[in-house]
Amino acid sequence: MTETEPIIIGTWKMQLGVPESIELAKKIKKGISKKGPEVVVCPSFVSLTRVADVLKKGSISLGAQDCFWEEHGAYTGEVSAHYLKEVGCKYVILGHSERRKHLQETDEMINKKIKTALRVGLTPIVCIGETLEQRQDGDTNSVLIVQASAAFKGVELNVDQQIIIAYEPVWAISPSPHDMQPEQTIETNQVIKQHLLDIFPQSIVKNNIRLIYGGSVDSTDAASFIALENTSGVLVGGASLKSEEFLAIIKSVS
Ligand code: PEP
Repeated sequence: MTETEPIIIGTWKMQLGVPESIELAKKIKKGISKKGPEVVVCPSFVSLTRVADVLKKGSISLGAQDCFWEEHGAYTGEVSAHYLKEVGCKYVILGHSERRKHLQETDEMINKKIKTALRVGLTPIVCIGETLEQRQDGDTNSVLIVQASAAFKGVELNVDQQIIIAYEPVWAISPSPHDMQPEQTIETNQVIKQHLLDIFPQSIVKNNIRLIYGGSVDSTDAASFIALENTSGVLVGGASLKSEEFLAIIKSVS
């Protein structure tokens, strides 16, 4: 992998039950062509094993939407990164703004989860992004730096490990009325990239870390985001729930 290899990640949040997830996975698998970007789908926990069965022998990777920071133990309701590995996950989304907001996930929790995911052999997809208020106050860059610093505190990557960072401005995530234009992410991407270079060795940033964008992306703008210098993929929520639209996104960057 290099920082420029494109990746399209669909997250189905809590929008689809098991039969719908199976159906969607089948349609995406059927519609995908052999050549193209790396594609990942992240169903709900309860759909993971069934979707994994559908994706078997195909090119689409499986991801989860969260994991716990402890590997095993008496943690009612939590899901171990080991279980995610067992059912075939390669990726896990961590630090999503919806979890930060609704479940009070802190930077410290996210940092612990990242370390656990890496230890267990999952690639974390780490979400960072400012709220509308923070943006209006001119705090966007400092928020991104604080979130990234906290997320990667004490994280060391070896050459076999990868991280994906998803820049997701909270105010642009659907169903927000606000839209982010691709060019508007150029500065923030540079800020994140520079900060990564402050934290990790240059070769690791080049070969093991990809920066992607997420926030109301669809087939009309995915390619424009990915065409930007520091963006090598997109994290897609709403537009990944319909096979035709998700396949159109994939096709647009192929
Ligand atoms: C998300 O929540 O990560 C996301 C990108 O959602 P949407 O594409 O629906 O804005």
